[in-house]
Amino acid sequence: MKNPKAVSSDSRTTALGTDKIRKDFPIFSQNIHGKPLVYFDNAATTQKPRAVIDALLFYYQTQNANVHRGIHYLSEIATSLYEASRVKIQRFLNARESKEIIFVRGATEGINLVAHSYGRTYLKRGDEIIISGLEHHSNIVPWQILSEQTGAVLRVIPVSDKGELLLEEYERLLSKRTKFVAVGHMSNALGTINPVKKIIQMAHHWNARVLVDGAQAVPHLPVDVQDLDCDFYVFSGHKIYGPTGIGALYGKAGLLEAMPPYQSGGDMISYVTFGKTLYNTLPYKFEAGTPHIEGVIGLGAAIDYVLGLGLDKIETYERELLAYGTKALLSLPGIKIIGTAKEKGCILSFVMDGVHPHDIATILDRQGIAIRAGHHCAMPVMERFGLPATARASLAFYNTRGEIDALIQALKHVREVFKT
Ligand code: PMP
Repeated sequence: MKNPKAVSSDSRTTALGTDKIRKDFPIFSQNIHGKPLVYFDNAATTQKPRAVIDALLFYYQTQNANVHRGIHYLSEIATSLYEASRVKIQRFLNARESKEIIFVRGATEGINLVAHSYGRTYLKRGDEIIISGLEHHSNIVPWQILSEQTGAVLRVIPVSDKGELLLEEYERLLSKRTKFVAVGHMSNALGTINPVKKIIQMAHHWNARVLVDGAQAVPHLPVDVQDLDCDFYVFSGHKIYGPTGIGALYGKAGLLEAMPPYQSGGDMISYVTFGKTLYNTLPYKFEAGTPHIEGVIGLGAAIDYVLGLGLDKIETYERELLAYGTKALLSLPGIKIIGTAKEKGCILSFVMDGVHPHDIATILDRQGIAIRAGHHCAMPVMERFGLPATARASLAFYNTRGEIDALIQALKHVREVFKT
């Protein structure tokens, strides 16, 4: 993490040019409770740039048709836009082939697809699945259900006081019984960035398959699935400035080929009789029914937008903002940051002495500042730190130091309210 002092306090002088970027996001032109919107709930969902909103509007106004079905002009346009987004995501993740990208509703559905299709086919009683103590419920519950159904055993990598995974404990958990490892790339509750490449190498040593939950990582870090050598990688469009209800699952072609369909119906077939159905080839085998066409197109526009800014520049700017925010928060008395990993994305999870996180969030909301308070769909993480909840400010590239300053002022106000 860089020294925040090395950075100018004026966001206009950063390589990213945040003042200009903010104009791309129509939502920032409004006030909330009479105050300029300060949006620090980016880990829950991100705001959408005009380029994404326009792509959705343009699609419905001029290009709308079903995909892969009609032999007419609009259907061909819609199909080519839909497939072009797949190629964008392939390049974005550096997957070998576009057929390795499956459109799903989001990270949750991607994980469920793998747990159901791969898990139920290849796991059996006595096999072991390893997850980590930092997981979002989406990367816990599907594996629990799979364990109940197959008799496989769920093991959990423990977490240090800083919020880092204990790799020596992971090493101890791995054995020839380990058949699957599912781990988050970046924790939504604490911001920890896990050493996934190492985790994958260690799992592969035992011939176990690995799924990486990239829901929080892809908006902030460049991801290369070939370099990571993960077997599966999932993310959600709405966390990377795209629409809700769309996301992607990357899977190695050989594995996806060897997996049965997750859902069935139109588009996932090549031939149907009452006696037998032949399934379609990849990726269509896993895309039953009319897909979220405008979502796919909007996601493609979001990825173009992010790549236009440059993920390396985004990463640098957000690191600086995190360092600035961390220092500012720690300057307040009675505040404790939960999650102090060395490798950390732009999430500030914190507690304030004597004040419930929900009260903090409610008071901040009246100042136009949106943060999250609660267990962040990661109850085991809260339990690990002996807390019912934290307050969480999750940052994005359109946030500024000025907004962090506003947060700090508002937190001082919270302290005043609870003094009386
Ligand atoms: N994993 C992580 C780490 C997340 O932060 C989230 C969303 N908060 C999910 C999975 C689930 O994403 P979605 O609800 O978009 O499917």
